[in-house]
Amino acid sequence: MSEIIEHFKKIASLPHCSYKAEKLKEHIIVYAKACGFDVQVDAYENILASKGTPRICLQAHYDMVCIGHTEAMELVFEGDILSAKDATLGADNGMGMAIIFTCMQKFANLEVLFTSNEEVGLIGASQLQLQLQSSYLLNLDGEQEDEIYVGCAGGVDIVASREFTCKSLPKESLFFEISVDGFIGGHSGVDIDKDIPSAIKVLVAELLQHKNMELISLEGGQMRNSIPKSAKAIIATGQDFSLMDARVRKCQIADPKQEALKDGAVVLLALNAIHQGVRVFDKEFQIPSISANIGKIRQDGTKIIIDVNVRAMSDDDLLQASFECMSLFRLAGFSVEQEQMHAAWKPQIGTFTKLVQEQMQKTYDGIALRAIHAGLECGVLIQTQQKKIEAVSIGPTIRFPHSTKEECDLASVARIFQIVEQIIKKVG
Ligand SMILES: [Zn+2]
Repeated sequence: MSEIIEHFKKIASLPHCSYKAEKLKEHIIVYAKACGFDVQVDAYENILASKGTPRICLQAHYDMVCIGHTEAMELVFEGDILSAKDATLGADNGMGMAIIFTCMQKFANLEVLFTSNEEVGLIGASQLQLQLQSSYLLNLDGEQEDEIYVGCAGGVDIVASREFTCKSLPKESLFFEISVDGFIGGHSGVDIDKDIPSAIKVLVAELLQHKNMELISLEGGQMRNSIPKSAKAIIATGQDFSLMDARVRKCQIADPKQEALKDGAVVLLALNAIHQGVRVFDKEFQIPSISANIGKIRQDGTKIIIDVNVRAMSDDDLLQASFECMSLFRLAGFSVEQEQMHAAWKPQIGTFTKLVQEQMQKTYDGIALRAIHAGLECGVLIQTQQKKIEAVSIGPTIRFPHSTKEECDLASVARIFQIVEQIIKKVG
């Protein structure tokens, strides 16, 4: 265990925020060569190293989310809990790396892969240009020690945009700002089944209730992959009206633009028709199977741009769901583009998965296989390989990752390390 901690301390001392991990990259290469590994680096700064005749590849990403004082990081040890003073710790995924570093000294036949820029969109894993020798991939980016992941959702961002012409308004028009805010929001993948209301959907439903209303502007949401916390519209009407939904607010404004969007109602109808939330639920894994999130609406002059994030647990479902969403936007006169498409990792339970489950079961009684309705590196990584790779993801317990409260349970690190050692021995 002290070896793992020493490796982690060294990793934490080298800057490795996403896009700025050059120093840690150099350290990995030097260390791997010193352990007798052949090292390859691709154009995306992924590092693949192998020794002997490996059948298993251990994998972690080597970038971290940097919030707070991550330069000259001060580690805080309190019993079994490790954190960093006023900073993200980077145990996500530095502790997985430290476990891999320790295994690299111990085993004669091993392959290791360190991927780049995971935290900014699975970049390294999805662009990997190197081919693994092993058929088994053990990813160590899990965040809960008693969980085994064997599948993840694929996703795509649909960006719909339409330029509107304007029309002038009657002189006697009244102008209002209609807004919704203070909603709790959440992640468009892992929180999509929690019945969190979307501020955009609530606002659109309200606006559609009122006849003879002209839309001047519309915006809402924070990010493509989060459930909108707020939304607002500016509208013009001939007379005052009362609101239907108690969560919506209205305030009269004195000096707005005197022009409205011609056919503005089309935007509202399209937004109303697009499904928000879980479309199909996967009973086996107890997670959403297909979902969509209208993440953000922006207005640039007379152009309205809408971002929708679609996820599905299989590539066929992802294609179908995104195609339906795009068709609807096209019907409403929008042009559509797909961005950040990443493949689903469909659970396939083979020899390796069973072996990992068997080893995990010795420590964690009755452990089940899980899938997650969000993107993981395994999903995109195996797509880059010419041969079939069976992948499984586990890891030590890390709480509050991507925040300055991030902490790692060191007792779980020791347990996961022993399990990883056993898995490598069994694979041979
Ligand atoms: Zn991670």
